[in-house]
Amino acid sequence: MSQLSLISDLRRVSAELGRDRLLVQGGGGNASLKCGKRLHVKASGHWLCDAETIDMFVELDLTKARKLASNGEENLSKAVRGESELRPSIETAMHALMPQPCVIHTHPVSLIARSLLGEDAGLPVIEYCQPGAPLAAAMAGRIATGAPDVVLLANHGLVVGAETPDEAARMTRELAFEHELPVHIRPAGVAPLPKLSGFVPLAHPLANAVACSPDSWRVLGEGALVPDQVVYLGGPACIADSVESMPEALRAYARRTGMRPALLIVQHTGTWISETASRGALAMAQMMMDLAARIPEGAAISTLSEEDEMALRGWDAEAHRQAVDQARTASKKEAAA
Ligand SMILES: [Zn+2]
Repeated sequence: MSQLSLISDLRRVSAELGRDRLLVQGGGGNASLKCGKRLHVKASGHWLCDAETIDMFVELDLTKARKLASNGEENLSKAVRGESELRPSIETAMHALMPQPCVIHTHPVSLIARSLLGEDAGLPVIEYCQPGAPLAAAMAGRIATGAPDVVLLANHGLVVGAETPDEAARMTRELAFEHELPVHIRPAGVAPLPKLSGFVPLAHPLANAVACSPDSWRVLGEGALVPDQVVYLGGPACIADSVESMPEALRAYARRTGMRPALLIVQHTGTWISETASRGALAMAQMMMDLAARIPEGAAISTLSEEDEMALRGWDAEAHRQAVDQARTASKKEAAA
């Protein structure tokens, strides 16, 4: 198979996976292909679903990329070939170190839910570590003892390595499907939602059901579940027990995180998102509904620690990813205007 057709396959399967919100949400996930001495990897901040319409794969010198990755470098821009304004994905080091020609990293809701419940889905697991250099180092440790084709990243997602993009995409879909969990909550009736200053109702079929599910308040309010939740939403949801007590709930949230919440649940009333939320934040808030709905009642779950959350909030690589996301939100608004 020619390199050109493999790259075109990579773009096609990236867009297909990126359009499935149970596999990829917003700018999350990334994909790569090694062609001889080159590594093609998704650029940071771009959305996989746009892979066929936007030129988002950056070409790197594979030897240089592996050397930088082995030295613990997180930003592999120095290995980019030629002139490119695109910054390689924050997970490029992991992609470079893996031996398989095609690597696809996704955030399947089913497998993330399994990992929150402490299940391994029969797969090799890397316990939670910060994306970027720490994750690449953990993957390097795995590779040293025999490179697995599939790894479950606890509280994060899935990594699949294969010969071709189609094979990696097929494995991703099959694993996510095979380990699907039933949705435990039922859609609730739609009552007219009160207007809340600074927030808009979250568009999701389960948003009202989540607002009426005490178990979902626990799952979404206790702590952040995945890193992108911290990056795009700032942390866990803010849970208020009534519209009247919302101001106090917002103050308590600010005391804990130093910020205003992006996702707000008012018990037995509804679910809102900040009116200034980016499209990435919206996608992440919607994922939180899909995730909460799959956690069985009363089940213990693992969350990120407060230290993990703080490390993600002060992360330069993520500031870049969010800036790209804000630009995408702005350009979509202009296009819609
Ligand atoms: Zn990820």
